[in-house]
Amino acid sequence: MIPQSPLVDSHGRTLRDLRISVTDRCNFRCLYCLPETEAAANFYRDRWREKEQKPIHHDWKPKNEILSFEEIERITTIAASAGIDKIRLTGGEPLLRKDIVTLVRKLSAIEGIKDLAMTTNGFLFPKYAQELKDAGLDRISISLDSFDKANFKRLTGRNGLEEVLQSVQVAKALGFDPVKVNAVVIRDINDHEIEALCQFAIDEEISVRFIEFMPLDSSKAWQKEHVISKKEILDRLQNRFDLTPLTSSNASETAKRWSVNQSKGELGIIAPVSEPFCGHCNRIRLTADGQIRTCLFSLHEHDLKPLLRGNTTDEEILTALHQIVAKKEAGHRIGKADFVQPARTMSCIGG
Ligand code: SAM
Ligand code: SF4
Repeated sequence: MIPQSPLVDSHGRTLRDLRISVTDRCNFRCLYCLPETEAAANFYRDRWREKEQKPIHHDWKPKNEILSFEEIERITTIAASAGIDKIRLTGGEPLLRKDIVTLVRKLSAIEGIKDLAMTTNGFLFPKYAQELKDAGLDRISISLDSFDKANFKRLTGRNGLEEVLQSVQVAKALGFDPVKVNAVVIRDINDHEIEALCQFAIDEEISVRFIEFMPLDSSKAWQKEHVISKKEILDRLQNRFDLTPLTSSNASETAKRWSVNQSKGELGIIAPVSEPFCGHCNRIRLTADGQIRTCLFSLHEHDLKPLLRGNTTDEEILTALHQIVAKKEAGHRIGKADFVQPARTMSCIGG
């Protein structure tokens, strides 16, 4: 690989982290992402909306619009030559992508990629865990928002608590380190489980990270009142646990972290809504259908498919990447009068 000049945006941020959505499909219907259930509709309608909720349709992208493994591998190789060294596979649910292990094997072999991670809802993880590890997956984040069967179903639209809990055990047993659990907390839905989630970090000696609820849900029903802020989470946990702040050498880290009760368990809080970290964001995203998004909240996407499927050389694609990255937004506009929610939801963008 011949190292190329790094991807730097017009605000001076150097991009190192590429999040790749491998599918827009999902086997869950999380309230905060891809709701379709009656419970989700009721939650939004009864609490926050006066208008009748319209039925939500999910039109998955046709297969020919989804990037092939070869196309994903090509973009990753080009991006790695320009300093991208961290990849996270996400979706939709990445484990629904056929032969995902093969993609992991291809990406882990790319020169310059130092860290290959995946975010999954965990439902299918036990089935693929060993193969993923053998193929070179370095880290895993598993989403888990509730320990209560009924509440889990209300949040995710599916019965899957046991499988997800099992996937945490499997990830630990296989030596994924750290094992991270992501939890989105929503007022009056699962905020009563904050303490139990923190205790889980201690008991399992893993990292539990709370993510503030962002306006990226498919029913566009997000309201500020739903969000349990970092401050609120911290105030509550400090009443119950002994939290010691942890420092990080990585300036682009999105989570603020604490050790809990001097255990090996760790608490993280990601607060894009109440304490945006846009100033040191070093991420770009590639959607399953080949669009580069320079911000989670971008209103414009940049389609790489015509380049990948035309006669474009790697050098030309790299030039296009530089031009796209240069346009990366200074930051998101959540909470500002001119905020517009992106048309695509978290499940399509890739969280
Ligand atoms: N399906 C996988 C999963 O759920 O882990 C990967 C994709 S999911 C979009 C990635 C992460 O985004 C998950 O941890 C999920 O909890 C989080 N997420 C989804 N919608 C969100 C929202 N509206 N606000 C905050 N986080 C969200
Ligand atoms: Fe699916 Fe993940 Fe979105 Fe839940 S958060 S609906 S599991 S993509």
